[in-house]
Amino acid sequence: MSRILIIEDEEDINRLLYKIVKKEGYEVTQAYSGTEARLLLNQEMPDLILLDLMLPGMKGEELTTYVRQEKKCSVPIIILSAKTALENKVELLTMGADDYITKPFEPQEVLVRVMAALRRAGMREAATQKESELQEYTYKNLVLNPVSRKITVKGQEITLTPHEYEILLILLKQPEKVFSRDALYELVWNSGYLGEDNTVNVHVSNIRKKIAAADKEEEYIKTVWGIGFKMA
Ligand code: CA
Repeated sequence: MSRILIIEDEEDINRLLYKIVKKEGYEVTQAYSGTEARLLLNQEMPDLILLDLMLPGMKGEELTTYVRQEKKCSVPIIILSAKTALENKVELLTMGADDYITKPFEPQEVLVRVMAALRRAGMREAATQKESELQEYTYKNLVLNPVSRKITVKGQEITLTPHEYEILLILLKQPEKVFSRDALYELVWNSGYLGEDNTVNVHVSNIRKKIAAADKEEEYIKTVWGIGFKMA
């Protein structure tokens, strides 16, 4: 199910939005200030953002710029704002927002906009995925070809086990994203339970050793302490 981040400092409105989307079965996270939202966005990108403009800490406009320009992420952003603040709609949309909802809003309107934005993003993603399946993944001196499953580092071929290969491919596909050990385990072994199991750590450590044997200078997989792994 899609994950929605609500960024709204007015508690009543935040709670109302939470109820509206939660009822449809979406996974929802709530942030009450711009700075809190930025922290959350830095950890994990949701599938859609409902964003108030007037926020303490960091304004909605700045957050949009942060997502689009610094995180280089195309996640749909729907702006929530009082009508008067929306006089310059064109500016908002060129700044990178996908849509806007004026306050006060009807629950049904919120849902319609959310669903439409997710549908558009889904189609966009499917198109890029198709494209990228035909592509090689390059990271520093490493090249992975998903068709031949061949991996080279500084031109030297390295051999990974199927599970090691899957982990590396997941990380390479979204080099900016931090994957938790649980998420990697779930994606690679198709099973949810990890607990205290060390499997993912062992596999990542093996991948690192194999890469390092071909390239000692560069770091490829980084440990994000307390969270998981990402490309360095
Ligand atoms: Ca506000």
